[in-house]
Amino acid sequence: MNIEKIINDINHMNVNIHNGRPALKKPLLLLLIISKFEEGSFAENRINFIDVEKELSELIDNYGGRPSKGGTKAYQPFQYLNSSPFWNIHLPNGVTMTHSKDLPIKVIRDQDTFVILDEELFNNLKHSSKARAILANFILQKWWPETVQEELRNILSLPLDNLVKLQKNRNKEFSSLVLANFRYKCAFCGFSSGFNNYSFGVDGAHIKWFSQNGPDTIENGLSLCKFHHWAFDRGVMGVNPKTLELKVSKKFIGRDNFSIKFVEELNGKSLEPFKEIEPNSIYLEWHNDFIFIG
Ligand SMILES: [Zn+2]
Repeated sequence: MNIEKIINDINHMNVNIHNGRPALKKPLLLLLIISKFEEGSFAENRINFIDVEKELSELIDNYGGRPSKGGTKAYQPFQYLNSSPFWNIHLPNGVTMTHSKDLPIKVIRDQDTFVILDEELFNNLKHSSKARAILANFILQKWWPETVQEELRNILSLPLDNLVKLQKNRNKEFSSLVLANFRYKCAFCGFSSGFNNYSFGVDGAHIKWFSQNGPDTIENGLSLCKFHHWAFDRGVMGVNPKTLELKVSKKFIGRDNFSIKFVEELNGKSLEPFKEIEPNSIYLEWHNDFIFIG
C-alpha cells in the first residue's frame, strides 16, 4: 500500500452522511491517530479504544459540528472505520461484528478489542514525518474550512508539509464578489478597513462549507472579519435563516467587556445590509442545523 492508495481509501471511506450533516468523526479519529504517531506515543501496531477515547470525545465535541442527540458517540468511528481496507478491528473471542449495529461500549473498551492498521500505513505513520504530513493535510482540506484546518493543525501538533492545495476548481472571484455584496464590511460587526489600497481583514466566507459541497456563489457567502469568520465556522455564531438576525451560542462566555461587546451583544442584531443578493436561507439552514452550536 503506497501513500496514494491510502489517500484513495481515505477519500472513499464511507462517512455515512445523513441529510447533508457533515460526518466528521472518522476524519477526526484519523487526525488524532496521526498526531499520536507524530508525538511518538504509538509504538506498536495495536490501537485500543481507550488510548483515544477521551481526546476523541473532546475533538468531536469541539470540531465535529453541532452535536446530535445522544452525545459524541466517540466509539462509532472506531468501529465503523472497519469498512475501510486499512483498518482491521480485532474483537474478543466469541464477539462478532454486526455492520449496522453499535457494539456494546463494554466490548469496545475491552483490552482484547483493538485495531491493527494496514502494515504499510503503520510503517508510514511510524517512520515518515512526510507521510504523516501528507495524510493530515489531505484529511484537513477535504473536510474542514481553512479557519478550522489551521486550528486543528495547531491543537493536534500535526506536521506541516509543503502544503499542496487540493485540486478543486475554486472560483477566484467568489471572495471579491461576496465582499462587494456587503460593501466590504463584516456582515456581523461592520468592521471595514484598508491597507495599502486593499481591503484588509475581511474574508468572503462560505455559509455552507466548500468542503461540504457548498457552492462558490454570492448567495452562499457572507463577508466576515477574520474573527467573525472563525466564530461562524466554529459554530459560535450563526444567522437566523428567516429573520437574518445574528445568533450567539449559549456556550460562549465572554470574560471581558470587549468579548461581551464583540460577540455576546451581537445576539439578535440584524445582519448588515447586503447590496444586491440575499444569502440563501437553504445554506443558512444548513449552517444552523449542523454547525451552529445552540
Ligand atoms: Zn466582524
